[in-house]
Amino acid sequence: MLQDTIAAISTAAQDGAISIIRISGEEAIPIADALLDRSLKEKDSHTVTYGHIIDPLTKEAVDEVLVSLFRAPRTYTREDIVEISCHGGRFITRQILQLVLAQGARLARPGEFTQRAFLSGRIDLTQAEAVNDMIQANTKENAQLAMAGIRGSVRKLLDPLIEALLDMIANIEVNIDYPEYEDIEEITQEKLLPKARAWIREIEGILQRADSGQIIREGIQTAIIGRPNVGKSSLLNALLEEEKAIVTDIAGTTRDIVEGHIRLEGGLQLNLIDTAGIRTTQDIIEQKGIEKSYQIMEGAQLVILVLDGSVPLQEEDRRLLAESADKTRIVVYNKADLARPIEEGIAISAAKGDIQPLLDEIHRLFDHHRIALSEPSLANERQIALMRQAHASMASAISALEQGLELELAQIDLQEAYTSLKEILGEVHREDLIDTLFANFCLGK
Ligand code: GDP
Ligand code: ZN
Repeated sequence: MLQDTIAAISTAAQDGAISIIRISGEEAIPIADALLDRSLKEKDSHTVTYGHIIDPLTKEAVDEVLVSLFRAPRTYTREDIVEISCHGGRFITRQILQLVLAQGARLARPGEFTQRAFLSGRIDLTQAEAVNDMIQANTKENAQLAMAGIRGSVRKLLDPLIEALLDMIANIEVNIDYPEYEDIEEITQEKLLPKARAWIREIEGILQRADSGQIIREGIQTAIIGRPNVGKSSLLNALLEEEKAIVTDIAGTTRDIVEGHIRLEGGLQLNLIDTAGIRTTQDIIEQKGIEKSYQIMEGAQLVILVLDGSVPLQEEDRRLLAESADKTRIVVYNKADLARPIEEGIAISAAKGDIQPLLDEIHRLFDHHRIALSEPSLANERQIALMRQAHASMASAISALEQGLELELAQIDLQEAYTSLKEILGEVHREDLIDTLFANFCLGK
């Protein structure tokens, strides 16, 4: 099974003050002993030993190291783990790894230490995913979400839901198995329905919070639209120059072809979507321009429609207003410096960098997603997709109950909902999916 001992460089693949080579498995301690000028055999768990790595062939000292010893089962993988902290040059680190591999360890696959932690039952799948999220976290918010995940926030969220499901399932089962037994409370469609409805409402709340989490983690898909010369490019520049805005990457801002990320004060991030082709110039057939803008708006979580406030509305403005009406949208009247003050609507002057009313509106529309995050939620698409499946199963069960159909039918749906939730935690899983998931981790984790 997991008999082989694995090893990898667990620190970043560049020169640094210290690198760590991690070894996990039954042979971890013997392998370290074969390379060290002292033995770990008598050392206690969770201790650090000073020593030297000696090349067994040449007998030469290779590096001065600190070796941390963690004895099974109180370790990350629940196996024996040895971590060699060496001087952090790439050459010396790789040389020590080679010596470890020559002693019989196998090079770990990406994420394999965490995969072992999962397979040994030390952490569930959502915690394993959170470990990866923590490594990739690039903001305080993301790091906090990942930390909650590592501490098992998803399991805590799901446990009561799983329990409630089991309760319903058990009730039905007893009634099916012992229909004539008098001491058992008879379960009817009417008795189950309120429980099922309460359950599905919980799931809906969780899914909503998951959407919020995604908006905070991944940013708001934002399209800046408007006819030519209303000031879209100027607005983009103003957003970029906004004092606290951090441009993470912006590609080619010519001709309104813009894709990039702007982080606003407070952690909200705008992912600007390419709005090329929105202009209906002579060289683009008008209809095509409209179709393209429609597509862009489809994918957007926020549409910023820029109008020129210094001139009357034009036909194309009206069309864009109509097209974007069902989106989360902010209509800004630009060139306020040239226009008479407006009574309603958001007036800005992109050219003068006067865009605070727009920023305020963005915060008004999206800040609640941050508040929602103080409650635990799901962390990624995989978890959300399974939660949606559970939701669909329960919706189907409710419909069966409402129609007064056989309880056995609802029972099948409840079982499916149960399986979906268990799959979120990785307690039922397909081996190949698990391998793919851990392959996305970095090496040595
Ligand atoms: P786009 O075609 O929608 O990207 O519009 P641009 O950003 O290229 O702006 C078109 C013209 O309007 C340029 O000459 C800008 O300097 C001007 N402009 C943009 N915003 C403002 C503004 O707030 N006030 C004034 N007076 N001119 C503006
Ligand atoms: Zn432009």
